[in-house]
Order: sequence, then structure tokens, then C-alpha cells
Amino acid sequence: MKRTFTCIVCPNSCEISVEIENGKILGIQGNRCIRGRDYVVQELTAPKRNFATSVLVEDGELPLCSVRLSSPIPKERIFDAMERIREIRVKAPVKAGEVLLEDLLGLGCDVIATKNVDSLK
Ligand code: SF4
Repeated sequence: MKRTFTCIVCPNSCEISVEIENGKILGIQGNRCIRGRDYVVQELTAPKRNFATSVLVEDGELPLCSVRLSSPIPKERIFDAMERIREIRVKAPVKAGEVLLEDLLGLGCDVIATKNVDSLK
């Protein structure tokens, strides 16, 4: 069986073809570097994703602060993670780079602010 992936590790977006038989990878083609091979192997065994979203800010000049994860999490935990992040309420001021939640769902990644939100004047 042949499967095709678009590598998302860098902007080159290589189209990578993988030949699989009985769950074994027989060959990988189209990747320009080893990271593409690693990406495909991870996609086939334990896919992970990172994402960005926002959290509610109390008493801030803006009602929301954008956030990202410090590292990718298993793809099947994304909805749980989004629900947990939706519960977060932070008090302004918030600084970009600040950890707003440590060890999200015990997955070993943190929720990090990517924007400054000052307090209401
Ligand atoms: S295979 Fe390498 S060069 Fe191609 S998109 Fe992936 S990381 Fe970038």
C-alpha cells in the first residue's frame, strides 16, 4: 500500500510517498531531509500536533490573549486540550512568553502566552 504525506515540519512542504506492507515501512521517497522521514514515521505511529488558540483575560485592555503550546501533543488529545484551555482565566497584565498553564493534562507541555495584554487603565 502506498500513502502520501505533506511534510509540515518546514515551509518546503515536501510530498512524501511511503510504501507500507503489513504495518512495515518498506520505503520513503520525496523527503528532502531526515526530518521528513521522522515526521512520516511519527504520523504512522503516534501523530502529534501543536496548535494556537486564545484564553480569557480578566480586567485586561483586551478580552483574550493568544496562546500556543510549548510542544506538540498527541493528536487524539487535542479536543481534551482545547476544553482545558477554554477553562483558563488569567488576570491582566499578561506578558508574551508567560506560562499560563503548566503541564497541560499531564502531557508535558505548557500553555504559553504569545501576546502582551495590559491591565485596564
Ligand atoms: S522533508 Fe525536510 S525539507 Fe521537506 S518539508 Fe520536511 S523538513 Fe522541510
